[in-house]
Amino acid sequence: MIIDVHTHVFTSNKPFSAQFLKEASGARTTPIDMITRYDEYRATATDCAATICFGGKARLAGLWVDDQDVADYIKQDPDHLIGFLSLDPTQPNWQAEMEYGHQELGLQGIKLMPMYAGFYPQDEQLDALWTYAQKHNLPVLLHTGTTFASQSQLETTLPRHIDVVARRFPEVRIIMAHLGHPFEGECIAVIRKHPHVYADVSALHYRPWQLFHSLMLVHEYGVWQKLLFGTDFPFTNVDASVAGLRSLAEVKIDRFSLPLEKIEELIQRNALPLLGLQQPGQAKL
Ligand SMILES: [Zn+2]
Repeated sequence: MIIDVHTHVFTSNKPFSAQFLKEASGARTTPIDMITRYDEYRATATDCAATICFGGKARLAGLWVDDQDVADYIKQDPDHLIGFLSLDPTQPNWQAEMEYGHQELGLQGIKLMPMYAGFYPQDEQLDALWTYAQKHNLPVLLHTGTTFASQSQLETTLPRHIDVVARRFPEVRIIMAHLGHPFEGECIAVIRKHPHVYADVSALHYRPWQLFHSLMLVHEYGVWQKLLFGTDFPFTNVDASVAGLRSLAEVKIDRFSLPLEKIEELIQRNALPLLGLQQPGQAKL
């Protein structure tokens, strides 16, 4: 059973500025179709029991997906899909959007993009966000690490900022996306010390040299249990991500190699109880 904790909802090109689209085409070495079609996702999601979906809001970088789009998208397959709302706290009304997305649209977590939107996650002006997440048990997934968007602010994305948040709001379930690449060492330092802070491995398998080294660090620090499987669809998909992760077990450099059983545990990890979420389609107990 696989849980994909990181996918996007881009049902048209409307959410993107022209610049964002142009720069996104350089995210991988080959151009990417940014439109998300759920049937295509599902066709390449073998054994995937649940998928977390969100849009993304970041005025600075030229991205804005209304949470309503996410609520509509998950209606396509309510037995597998879990929706998160998105917030850009640099914009007015973000608190009202948070309450609306949670209470009216029924979205079950929060996605933040600090570097795309231009804010620090530990800024005390965001205390209302973290307090709300803690009170209502909403997991928070943040983009951490580099990006293609030229207007994004690298200084706001460092994993060390989440250490500050987690010290102040220790009960919030937090996922740092992309293992903080290329700041994986710093990301590992944070997930190691905070019981409820995790990292996802989405969109990393297509840089196998980097991911091999990152997972060796994970192995040496003994934090495999803090890694969650994710894809970052539409940038890649479940089957390709699983194959990419498994292939790393075949790498041997001198006396260093990754244990296949740890990679399999990561692929099969049930993230839902760790994040305080239910399997979609099941009534709340
Ligand atoms: Zn993403």
